[in-house]
Amino acid sequence: MKYLHLLSYTILIFTIGCKKSTNMEEQRIYKLERVGPAQVVQLYSDGFEQLTTKEKIFAYYLYLAGLAGRDIAIDQHHRNALEVRELFEQVYLYQSGIEKNIIDKITKYLKLFWINNGFYDNLTSKKFVPEITFEDFKNACTIAEKNGAKLGSSEENLITKLNRLKEVIFNPDFEPQMTNKTPNIDWIQESAVNFYDRNITYQEVEKWVKAGNEKNPLNSKIVKENGRLLEKIWRAGDGKIPEGMYSNYLKNVIYYLEQAIPYAANEHQAKTISLLINYFKTGNLEDFRKFNINWVKDTANVDFILGFIEVYLDPRGQKGEWESSVFFTNLEQTKLMNNLAKYAQYFEDRAPWQDIYKKKIDKTPIANVINVIASTGGAGPISPIGINLPNEQFIREQYGSKSVLLHNIVEAYEKSTGLELVKEFAADEYEIQLQEKYGSIADNLHTAMHEVIGHGSGKASEKLGGKDPSDFLPGYYNTLEETRADLVALWYAFDDKIIDIGYAKDGEELRHIGETMYQQTIRAGFTQLRRIGNSDQLEEDHMKNRQLIFNYILNNSNAVKSEKRNGKTFFKIIDYQQMRETVGKLLSEVMRIKAEGDIEAARKLIDTYGLKVDTKLRDEVQSRANKLDLPLYTGFVMPELEPVLDPESKIVDVKITYPMDLAKQMLKYSKFSRTVR
Ligand SMILES: [Zn+2]
Repeated sequence: MKYLHLLSYTILIFTIGCKKSTNMEEQRIYKLERVGPAQVVQLYSDGFEQLTTKEKIFAYYLYLAGLAGRDIAIDQHHRNALEVRELFEQVYLYQSGIEKNIIDKITKYLKLFWINNGFYDNLTSKKFVPEITFEDFKNACTIAEKNGAKLGSSEENLITKLNRLKEVIFNPDFEPQMTNKTPNIDWIQESAVNFYDRNITYQEVEKWVKAGNEKNPLNSKIVKENGRLLEKIWRAGDGKIPEGMYSNYLKNVIYYLEQAIPYAANEHQAKTISLLINYFKTGNLEDFRKFNINWVKDTANVDFILGFIEVYLDPRGQKGEWESSVFFTNLEQTKLMNNLAKYAQYFEDRAPWQDIYKKKIDKTPIANVINVIASTGGAGPISPIGINLPNEQFIREQYGSKSVLLHNIVEAYEKSTGLELVKEFAADEYEIQLQEKYGSIADNLHTAMHEVIGHGSGKASEKLGGKDPSDFLPGYYNTLEETRADLVALWYAFDDKIIDIGYAKDGEELRHIGETMYQQTIRAGFTQLRRIGNSDQLEEDHMKNRQLIFNYILNNSNAVKSEKRNGKTFFKIIDYQQMRETVGKLLSEVMRIKAEGDIEAARKLIDTYGLKVDTKLRDEVQSRANKLDLPLYTGFVMPELEPVLDPESKIVDVKITYPMDLAKQMLKYSKFSRTVR
C-alpha cells in the first residue's frame, strides 16, 4: 500500500527534534521546471555520505538492480509504450533542423511521458497526446532520421511504423484509459493497461479464475492463445524452470542483486536478497512469500523495495506494477515513528470496530522514516510519501508489516510548494493560521498513523477461511483499504497518547494539530477536483477514498457547513466532536466490509460516495485553482550514484550526485537499460 499525496502543502518545515537548515540547504534549488500539469523537483538524499562504505556499495548495486527493471513498468503501462518512448527519445536526440515550435511540443510530450512512465496521466488514468499533428511528427521524424536517428528497422520502415502507432500516440479516444473501473462496463476491455491481451473480456477472466486456473495473479500477463486463457509468468527462469515474460530484464536485475550480496549488512539481509533472486527466477508466489517474511524482519539501515509490488493499475487489483526504491533510515525521525508503533496495541484496542476484528499485536510493527536514494517505476519519478508492505494479508497478520515514511520526498514537496491553495480554499483565517503553524506536523502525523496503525490494523473474519480479503473485493479493495487507513488516522487525531509519543507538547497543541488534520481532510476532499480535468468520476484509489470520506461526512452529519461567499463555496467544520463520531461510524463499517469481504456493501459505499464527482463544484474548484496556476503533480529527479574505482577497477566507494535535469537523467536511464548485459 502506498500513501500518495500530502493532505496539504505548506512551506513550513516542522522538523521534529528541530534540525536547523544549514545555509547550504537554503540555497538549494528544488524546483527545476514546469511541464504542463507537472512540476519537476530535484530530490536530495542527505545522510548518504555518512553511510559506511559497505552500505554505500550495497545501495549502489540495489540502485542498478532497480534501474535494470525499470522498463518493465513502462511496458506494463501500455504494450507499445517502450517503442513510443524510443521514437520520441530518438527525435529529441537528433532534433537539429526541426522547427522550434514543433520540437518544443515533442519535448513536452516526452517529458510528461517520462514523468508518468507512459502516456497515461497518473491521476486520471487518461491518455495524453502530443500537441502537434501526426503529419508534423512524421516530418520531424524524417528530419531526425536524416540526422542519424534510428527510427525504423530492417523489418519495418519508419512510415509503416508511424502508421501502426498513429492511433496509439495521437488519438485520445483510442484506448483512452489505462485503468477504468466504471461500474457496469467491461473493466478489462476498457483498460489499456498491459496486463491482459486486448481480446479478453472480464467475464472470460472471471470464469477462468473461478475454475481455479489462476496460479500467478501478481506476476503474470493473461493472454489468449488458440481461444484459451493462460498466464505468461514474469520470471527469469533457472534452467529447470523455463524463462518467462520479462526474463531479459529480470536476469539483469538478478545480476546486480548478486553483486550486492557480499555487501549486505548481515546474514539476514544477504538471505533476503537470495530469496528475492530465487523468486525472480521461479516466479512462484510461494517464493515471494518467503522473501517477504524475511524482508519484514530485515531491520538493516539500507533497505529496499523491489519487484512487482502495488496493484492499483490492474482493474482487478491483482497484478503488480514494477517498482524499485533504495533508501536508508533517518535515525532521528525514526524515533518518533517507532514510538507510535510501540503503541499499536493501545490503538487497536480503542478502534471503533467490533472486537472480533481486533488484532492481537505480538510484534511491534516496523516503522521507519527514511531518505530515498532512488526510485523507479511505481515509485518514481512520481513518488508516494508513505509505504506499507507487504500487501498480502496473511503475512501482515502472521509476521507484521513494515512502514516507511519518505522524509526527503515530503521535504522536497514542502520546499517546492507554497500556501496559495490553502489561502484560496480555507474556510476562514483560523484555518489558514492553523495550516501555517501545524500543517506540516499534522501531515506527518496523518501519514505515520495511516501507515503504521492504519494499514497495519484489523483482522479478517474467520469466515474468509484464511483467504485474502482482496480476493473477495475485486476492483474495490484498494479504495476501501485506503479509506480505512485514513479513517484510523482521523479517529485517533485527538488521542492523548499522541502527546506521550511526542507529536504534541500539551493538550492545547494536540487539539490544534487534530483540528488541522480534520481541516486538511475536508479541504483535500474537494480541492483534489482540480486535478481531474473534465472527468466526471474518479479512478485513482486514494482520490476516491478522500472523496468518500468527505462526502460521507457531509451527508451523514452536521459537522461541516457549506457556505457561499462571493460566488465561492467554502466548507467549514463547525463540530469536530461530531465529525470524529462520524469518522468512527464509517470506520467501523469499512472494517466490517473488509473483514467479511462484503462486496455488495463495498460497491454501494464506494459507488455512492467515492466515484462520481459533483461537476459544478469541480468546475468552480478548477476555475479558482487555475488562477493560481499551480502544478497538479510532481515528478522527481532522483539522486545518482557513481562508483569510485581503484586502479584494479575494484569498487571502493560510491559518490552521490544531483543531476538537476530531468531529460539528462531519463536519457541516461534509457541508455542504461539498452546497454545492460
Ligand atoms: Zn495507504
